Amino acid sequence: MFGEIKSLNEECGIFGVWGHPESAQLTYYGLHALQHRGQEGAGIVTTDGKQLKLHKGHGLINDVFSQDQLKDLQGRASIGHVRYATAGDGGYENIQPLMFRSQTGSLALAHNGNLVNAQALKNQLEAQGSILQTTSDTEVVAHLIKRLRHLPLADAISEGLSMIKGAYAFLMMTEDAMYVANDPRGLRPLSLGYLGDSWVVSSETCAFDIIGAKYEREVKPGELLIISDEGVESRRFSAPIQRTLCSMEYVYFSRPDSDLDGKNVHASRKRMGKALAQEAPIEADVVTGVPDSSISAAIGYAEEAGIPYELGLIKNRYVGRTFIQPSQELREQGVKMKLSPVRGIVEGKRVVMVDDSIVRGTTSRRIVKMLKDAGAKEVHVRIASPPIKNPCYYGIDTSNSGELIAANHSIEEMEEIIGADSLSFLTPDGLNKAIYQGEDSLEHGGCMACFTGNYPTEIYPNTVHPYEKA
Ligand code: SF4
Repeated sequence: MFGEIKSLNEECGIFGVWGHPESAQLTYYGLHALQHRGQEGAGIVTTDGKQLKLHKGHGLINDVFSQDQLKDLQGRASIGHVRYATAGDGGYENIQPLMFRSQTGSLALAHNGNLVNAQALKNQLEAQGSILQTTSDTEVVAHLIKRLRHLPLADAISEGLSMIKGAYAFLMMTEDAMYVANDPRGLRPLSLGYLGDSWVVSSETCAFDIIGAKYEREVKPGELLIISDEGVESRRFSAPIQRTLCSMEYVYFSRPDSDLDGKNVHASRKRMGKALAQEAPIEADVVTGVPDSSISAAIGYAEEAGIPYELGLIKNRYVGRTFIQPSQELREQGVKMKLSPVRGIVEGKRVVMVDDSIVRGTTSRRIVKMLKDAGAKEVHVRIASPPIKNPCYYGIDTSNSGELIAANHSIEEMEEIIGADSLSFLTPDGLNKAIYQGEDSLEHGGCMACFTGNYPTEIYPNTVHPYEKA
């Protein structure tokens, strides 16, 4: 993923295991496969049937857990979370899973997504005497459930979930059961798998592969799964509605080896590239992609256009989060840490540079300049998704609209700003067809609100863009 330089960040990943003696270790590996979804913090909660145990901390999964800490998390079931701070700040108390203890037992929660009515619910809870310990939306759900403690827990969870709006994939755990829920529109990905007799749940299927688990099915929109030693029980907490899975998961966020809703991400991206070549052809000598997330679309574009695909840009894989970044002055002198052009490939050539999306435009401008400095004769930028004109309220950091280049400039202006010889985007229809291959029409496909402005849920009058809260 190339999130750091693109200013487009994923919102979190969740993973859980029920019924395995090494559940914490498996969760650690699962979270490692989901690390691209959040790098700011990680945590795992385990149950041994009598009590929940939590370990969490700031940083990458490798920074947070040592072998000894994992050994301490003994138990046959675990849930885990990798965090990118969406709602709430990056404080320790907001790192998930969150854990709440009470006289009747404990509840741990891990959440991927963002609630659009969280502020209204927080105000209501506080007015009724609840004291919230974190600034995260997730705690609101715990309080809603706690207020319904006169009900059996599964009923209280269903009732609590029916009060929240927005995007959410939840993993919750008590001493003796795991609860798995996907929001009524299934905006975020969530899959159920199995490993022998154990059940596994993950934001993305790539985490199943890493531990040798098999995919069973999607957690359906509006479905609550209750997983315990008795097996898996499925309930609905909301009437079925057409799923509107986030299209940006296919475009950029998810790993290419994951399948979302049964569709492989790499294959979908290749189709986006092919559609882009049909919609925006250009005479050129080579096609190159911006590593890593645009490579699949670039291969698709090259195949369809009949132009050779080449590695015109190389990503330096060893620039970590703690690496001392060059100053602005050194950057201007040409010190580039994350990406390098391959001069021998691009020199004297007409280059099609395929990228997955443009957020602020600064990265595209830098890459076009880099290719031209390396001798490219022409650089034609092709974007394998439509222009991002609207903020996302569902847990993806697409920046606020003031910072979105496409919200403030025409395509011709953007072309000039980034210094490209030409610039084209995939149309919303082209994107929809590339993902769903004609299964669904534009009205009934995935969420495309950041492109079209058609938000699949109500946006509450007091909803603020999550990244403007801090
Ligand atoms: S608005 Fe965009 S980024 Fe947000 S859920 Fe919809 S498609 Fe995904």
